[in-house]
Amino acid sequence: MKQPQSIAVLGAGVMGLMAAYTLRTYLPATEITIFDRDATPQNNASNKAGGMLAPYAELDHMPQDYLGAASDSLKLWGDIQKALKTDFEFRENGSLIIAHAEDKHLLSRFSGILPKNDQWSAIQGEAIRTLEPSLDADIFSNGLHLKAEGHLHPRKAMEALRNFLPPIIQKHIVPEDIVQDFNLVIDCRGMGACDYIDDLRGVKGEILIVHNPEFHLNRPLRLMHPRYPLYIVPREGNIFMIGATIIESAESESISIRSAMELQSALYSIHRSFGDSKILEMTAGIRPALPKNMPIISMEGQVIRCNGLFRHGFLLAPVMAESLACYIQGTHTPHFDLFAKEGRDEHISQRTAFGT
Ligand SMILES: Cc1cc2nc3c(=O)[nH]c(=O)nc-3n(C[C@H](O)[C@H](O)[C@H](O)COP(=O)(O)OP(=O)(O)OC[C@H]3O[C@@H](n4cnc5c(N)ncnc54)[C@H](O)[C@@H]3O)c2cc1C
Repeated sequence: MKQPQSIAVLGAGVMGLMAAYTLRTYLPATEITIFDRDATPQNNASNKAGGMLAPYAELDHMPQDYLGAASDSLKLWGDIQKALKTDFEFRENGSLIIAHAEDKHLLSRFSGILPKNDQWSAIQGEAIRTLEPSLDADIFSNGLHLKAEGHLHPRKAMEALRNFLPPIIQKHIVPEDIVQDFNLVIDCRGMGACDYIDDLRGVKGEILIVHNPEFHLNRPLRLMHPRYPLYIVPREGNIFMIGATIIESAESESISIRSAMELQSALYSIHRSFGDSKILEMTAGIRPALPKNMPIISMEGQVIRCNGLFRHGFLLAPVMAESLACYIQGTHTPHFDLFAKEGRDEHISQRTAFGT
């Protein structure tokens, strides 16, 4: 592809910001313009995310072929934090999965789907206490330590990217409004593109953010539970993000009483101190998802769409953005096929002229 002089990125969620950042690096001579309906978007999926970078823990929701790409994203986030000289709490401390004694079989089931390598191990009592001293190892005596995982603070990461990039132009638009003004339009509007991508749907995720000075975590913690699975992502200052429900609905960004009670009781079962913790935020986000729950890069003339990141926006956006930049630059990355294949196969209906 001839190097474009100008590219518009539509949408400043994690996908749009990451696309703009990576395109600036790969195509320094190209002018990049970013549009969003909000100048500092608050009400998008990205702003509600936990920020777990969990290639292994997500194997319950993600085919194994994405493991390599997802793992590469961790390195890219590390490079970005260094390049932007901003601490957005990107840490590579792994993650820990636990279950109550009566649910131990859930850990065995999950370990059965993990690849046989040294990136994870089953651990017991004392080893759990060493990793996470706040946990009562008598209650949680079995766990899985997933070593090759990380986490970050999504809002801080996006703020760091926004500070580096040209200011966002606040405008509610569709690609047709601007396609004549740019060589290429990268459509990263998440749910905003649902009129264009036939089978894009919303999957609601409800979360709590709490402050608990009596509890400490070094890494994301997942509780396997037959009814109320839950994860806790640590933020600096004893702040914890707790999530998240998976509800097939794009209807509302509010949280139901039932979900609030379920999240809170599962949280209390992890550590009593959460009973006195202070709720800072109770909200919900809508994840943009495609039928296979995996994202796509698809082309339609001058418009390239990156969408369907579902539960994996922070996990996969860096590597998707890199694949996109290489494609525009005319080079090939093995991961490009992973994302482009989905787009070519099914999701963009007959309107897509992939590869043109
Ligand atoms: C509760 C919850 C927890 C999550 N936890 C994690 C996690 O731990 N790890 C992980 O990797 N992923 C996680 N995710 C998933 C991740 O948040 C999403 O995959 C990701 O945010 C999708 O990013 P996006 O940029 O495609 O969409 P969005 O973040 O929704 O951004 C789309 C942007 O487009 C803009 N827009 C839309 N229409 C228009 C228009 N017409 N004109 C201008 N602008 C427009 C919107 O304002 C918005 O800013 C979580 C999601 C939720 C909801």
